[in-house]
Amino acid sequence: MAGHRGPLAAVGAALAAAVVVLLSPVPSAAVTEPPWPGAPAPSAPGSLHPTPTPTTPPAPSTVEIGRSRQGRQLLATRYGFPTAPRTVVVIGLLHGDEPAGLKVVAALRSLTPPTDTQLWVVPSGNPDGLAAGRRTNAAGVDLNRNFPNSWVYAGRGTSTYSGPKAASEPETAALVRFLSARRPALTVIFHQPLYGVDSYHAKNPAWAQRLATAMGLPLKSFSCGGTCHGTLTGWHNATLPGMGLTVEFGSGTPSSAKATQVAKAVLTVR
Ligand SMILES: [Zn+2]
Repeated sequence: MAGHRGPLAAVGAALAAAVVVLLSPVPSAAVTEPPWPGAPAPSAPGSLHPTPTPTTPPAPSTVEIGRSRQGRQLLATRYGFPTAPRTVVVIGLLHGDEPAGLKVVAALRSLTPPTDTQLWVVPSGNPDGLAAGRRTNAAGVDLNRNFPNSWVYAGRGTSTYSGPKAASEPETAALVRFLSARRPALTVIFHQPLYGVDSYHAKNPAWAQRLATAMGLPLKSFSCGGTCHGTLTGWHNATLPGMGLTVEFGSGTPSSAKATQVAKAVLTVR
């Protein structure tokens, strides 16, 4: 049979040719596509007219980062340039009965991040709790005791229940995935009613102090009555390079002026 090119050999040759076509470089048109709709197209290599750096960021865009126990969306909206090298994240609330941070979320909509910063806003890390006006998620778990750092099983049946195991809740898992992928320089998480910026195990105490001053809030240590277990900021600061920071408003709704002051501090203080 040596040297005989039967039908199977012909098929093999055709497949090989198809593979060559598939492995060929993608036409260059795809390479010069602008990074977002409306962005100026990059200049051709060697062009004497380099594309000017745009000063107005594209429209915000929203993605779903997960679902709650009851199937509600956890959403994240990006403001600023998607190519900006520095990331800041704001989480409006983690406890459903502490909605003050939503006023900061609203204030951020009318502010523009610095050109080197992309801002990601997660209005609610606990949409089921928010819908019910309740601290815990729909499974009765305190999400701020459910993160996989210094987690202990505690508080079953109370409003600070840890959950059956670390990161057992879909909301926790979604935030862990999202923050691990984004690796923010700064993540601010809003709570109530202790009124202050948390210095407990602060990753960068001087930066926390500058933020507190700019926000017009006192710097305080919120130690969860001794040691914090399974908190979002504790996990963030043990796991990610950037700083996670708890900010507590008082028991009432902050004024629009205060919310704007806090929002500006998040965007500008370094
Ligand atoms: Zn809280």
